[in-house]
Amino acid sequence: MYDINQTHLIVDLLDIRENAESLKVYTSGKLIAVVKADAYGHGVIPVAETLTSVVDMFAVATVEEAIELRQADISKPILILYSPLPEYTEDILLHELTPAIDNWDLAIRLNDMSEKGDILAKHTPDGKIRVHVDVNTGMNRSGVCYTEAREFIERLRSLPNIEVEGIFTHFATAHEEDKSFAHVQLNRFYPLLTIKPRIPIVHTANSAATLEIPDSRFNALRPGLSLYGIYPGKKKALPLYPALTWKTHVHWIDEIEVGEGVSYGLEYKALHPIRIAGLRVGFGDGYPRALSGIGEVLINGKRRSILGRICMDSMVIKLKESDYVRIGSEVVLLGKQGEEKISIEELAEKANTIPYEILTRIGKRVQRIYKP
Ligand SMILES: *Cc1c(COP(=O)(O)O)cnc(C)c1O
Repeated sequence: MYDINQTHLIVDLLDIRENAESLKVYTSGKLIAVVKADAYGHGVIPVAETLTSVVDMFAVATVEEAIELRQADISKPILILYSPLPEYTEDILLHELTPAIDNWDLAIRLNDMSEKGDILAKHTPDGKIRVHVDVNTGMNRSGVCYTEAREFIERLRSLPNIEVEGIFTHFATAHEEDKSFAHVQLNRFYPLLTIKPRIPIVHTANSAATLEIPDSRFNALRPGLSLYGIYPGKKKALPLYPALTWKTHVHWIDEIEVGEGVSYGLEYKALHPIRIAGLRVGFGDGYPRALSGIGEVLINGKRRSILGRICMDSMVIKLKESDYVRIGSEVVLLGKQGEEKISIEELAEKANTIPYEILTRIGKRVQRIYKP
């Protein structure tokens, strides 16, 4: 089904499944799998289908992402991590979604539209819309301020059609070595747990907190990155398996003379006659252009350097005289080949970004091939 000359990703679904199973050791409660941004670039439908029997709930960033899951017959509860605009109320009801909530406008709209009957009837057995209250404890990008959350929850509970099923907050620094601000956030959050009747689902732990801050685990976890086998911080608390291998192929091979330049701007200049190869991948596929002149790829299990500027659809590498390479030879951009390996951490560090950004920028043009 794929053109071998195109750049493609091999996604190992079994690895993702095993990572999810491993993360479960940190909770006797629920595992909420964060599959926003197309499951961090891995492809949300196959990932969700793989995880649906392992996890208790999925989480996405937008209502559109949640609808995509429903249209693929994913029936597990789906949390929308950011309080949606009130305009989405009908979609939330129709698709039985569980929104985060941090403002009264959404609450009123959800409650009022439920009064109208037909849509709501199938939402939950008791006819109530379940919401999770987003509490801002210091990340300062969303959520009800922790000092006002108690009152907000009481008001929500006065609405007949709303059920406060969950309460959560999000850490600003859980991935850093210094966990002191994460504990400040937790201390702002704790008093809300005395609210009676008790809110059933309490979650604060992203991947970093799941792995490194035991106090953050409560009765549900909310990891994203670690499901895909990547560590958010320096510590490797648990063996995780990166699920992606990014490959492409050589489409051109030649030798150039001393003084010849390579690619746009001719930034790289040959000091000796050299052998070079063109690869079918570029920044149009999401490969970071920042790796121009500094990145490496694997060919025949060996590291070879990227020469000059990375183009939209192509880039050039330097070969050794002894390299056995032909048109169509496999090249690995990310992952293992033979004994060598290029990790996403390495790519991110060299490109001066974070693994999250590299993953979510891998383009549509890059075909995803799934290993069951
Ligand atoms: C993205 C996100 C997560 C997952 O974070 P990871 O670092 O990928 O584990 C959890 N909670 C919220 C609110 C998020 O936006």
